[in-house]
Amino acid sequence: RAKQGGRNGFRFYAPEMNARAMERLALEGSLRGALERGEFELHYQPKVSLADGMVFGAEALLRWRDPQAGLVSPANFIPLAEETGLIVPIGEWVIDSACRQLAAWRAADLSGVSVAVNVSPRQFQQSDLLALLQNALRRWNVPAHQLHVEVTESAMMEDPERAIAVLASLRDAGIQIALDDFGTGYSSLNYFKRFPLDCIKIDQSFVAGIPTSREDAEIALMIISLAHSLGRQVVAEGVETEEQLSFLRQHGCDAIQGYLFSRPVMAADFPEYLARRLKP
Ligand code: C2E
Ligand code: MG
Ligand code: MG
Ligand code: MG
Repeated sequence: RAKQGGRNGFRFYAPEMNARAMERLALEGSLRGALERGEFELHYQPKVSLADGMVFGAEALLRWRDPQAGLVSPANFIPLAEETGLIVPIGEWVIDSACRQLAAWRAADLSGVSVAVNVSPRQFQQSDLLALLQNALRRWNVPAHQLHVEVTESAMMEDPERAIAVLASLRDAGIQIALDDFGTGYSSLNYFKRFPLDCIKIDQSFVAGIPTSREDAEIALMIISLAHSLGRQVVAEGVETEEQLSFLRQHGCDAIQGYLFSRPVMAADFPEYLARRLKP
């Protein structure tokens, strides 16, 4: 309820709140427009297997090509999209675009590559994710095993029992699931062991500390060992240095992503990375 103001009548917001609210409203409008005008694009970051040094897939990462501001990072608009619910139609666009790209790569004879899309907590709770994914796969005639989904612990923990059921249905349909940013959320090991996952991604904050921070290195080791003992693959995110690479390789991490091998690149540039190898 609005508070009674002074003699000027009702006051809804303090002036600075008002400015913030206006700014958010403007951004929300811009995001809606961006979706309508087709200003979003996906960039692709190679995922490299440590077993053979080969690229086996990519993570699709959203960018907004704003005619004024240039390329806008998701950190600057995903939180608001999440709050306003705009993430739902944006997320649908992401899933559709990733499948369209997979279809194009398949047609260009890059048939084996997989693409992972990020699914936000709100999207995970609100939409019929399985139907959404399956419709896109059908529309573009892409086999389910080439589409992967990345979810975070916070998406899972909102309603863990439902999340477990949703993920199980995705997996039954042949879609692989990775737990993103592992170690930064608050899932209990009790739930963790029940999450139907194919892969766990070590958050880049831990990778950044290797090898100088003993704690970060120990946490990375613990995650690798925990994941493997539960039969899951491990991908390390944010690998930037040779030292991090050799540590992860030596300790049995399955795959890496990071600037050391490649930044996220435009779709047109991705195929050439499939021919590159990580140095042994
Ligand atoms: P994420 O899913 O954990 O993605 C990894 C982020 O780390 C990406 O940032 C990537 O560009 C960055 N990164 C990769 N390698 C390195 C490295 O070696 N060093 C450093 N410092 N960073 C590296 P980006 O693209 O800015 O995305 C940030 C976050 O935005 C993502 O984190 C994800 O949570 C979210 N996001 C991106 N695309 C989407 C999307 O399509 N839908 C949803 N819901 N969220 C998305
Ligand atoms: Mg991710
Ligand atoms: Mg991550
Ligand atoms: Mg992250």
